[in-house]
Amino acid sequence: MKKFVGAHVSASGGVENAPLNAMEIGAKAFALFTKNQRQWKAKALEAKTIDAFQKNLEASGILPKHVLPHDSYLINLGHPEADKLEKSREAFIDELERCRILGLDKLNFHSGSHLVKIPKKDPHYEEKLLEAELGCLDVIAESMNRAIEATKDSGVKLVIENTAGQGSNLGYRFEHLAHIIDKIEDKSRVGVCLDTCHTFTAGYDLRTREAYDQTMGEFDRIVGADYLMGMHLNDSKPPLGSRVDRHHSLGQGEIGWDAFRFIMNDSRMDDIPLILETIDESIWAEEIAALYRLVE
Ligand SMILES: [Zn+2]
Ligand SMILES: [Zn+2]
Repeated sequence: MKKFVGAHVSASGGVENAPLNAMEIGAKAFALFTKNQRQWKAKALEAKTIDAFQKNLEASGILPKHVLPHDSYLINLGHPEADKLEKSREAFIDELERCRILGLDKLNFHSGSHLVKIPKKDPHYEEKLLEAELGCLDVIAESMNRAIEATKDSGVKLVIENTAGQGSNLGYRFEHLAHIIDKIEDKSRVGVCLDTCHTFTAGYDLRTREAYDQTMGEFDRIVGADYLMGMHLNDSKPPLGSRVDRHHSLGQGEIGWDAFRFIMNDSRMDDIPLILETIDESIWAEEIAALYRLVE
């Protein structure tokens, strides 16, 4: 078996519960928050929690490399205000440390947002927007370089997720991901997570063989398939190119099943965590089983 499918499971009651929740839905991979994703601070992981997590992970049969922790939504590594940027950078380093302490080797995060509001009627709208985006991408890369430097002995990879491009969120173009990676000094510490909903609403079609090959070919050419270290498998409520981030259950949205069949038979997705973030967790077990049935 080459595909490792799971879901973003709950870690409520403690991170040690996440592998058990994954096991219950027949997952061979999972994602989790290692702390409350809506709070800045969390108490340090206790030895007994770490032990219980590792014991449960082993019992689940899921390998550490197939776990894709997600950082807090509060963190913005491209924040335009110095104090908030500093707070984000500190919290991000703490998240990387939590992953290392749990024996995990990846941290998935959204690159960041420039938060600049340029009136659409501004005659220099396009230029100003591009300037804000490029400046922010450089700040994000700098944040990542600092985090890598601060966690030198750690093998935890910084896995950038592509976004739908809602608001001022960056990472919606493959060029954004390439721009960031290009500025990272230690590229052995960087990876990418492609979210199918985000990819699609950012304007990259996945629905037909031709469109899928075109999109993945573009990703390979601009970013490089070797950087692909995880995927989020979600259908999409909004249409292609809408720049709106709303997930749907597989086969029930605008993307449809074919895209997931292409993914389940694409060797570029071998041996990496493939994670559902679909909206109805009561059918995750069915969605996982359905995905495995697509393997030809
Ligand atoms: Zn996602
Ligand atoms: Zn999303």
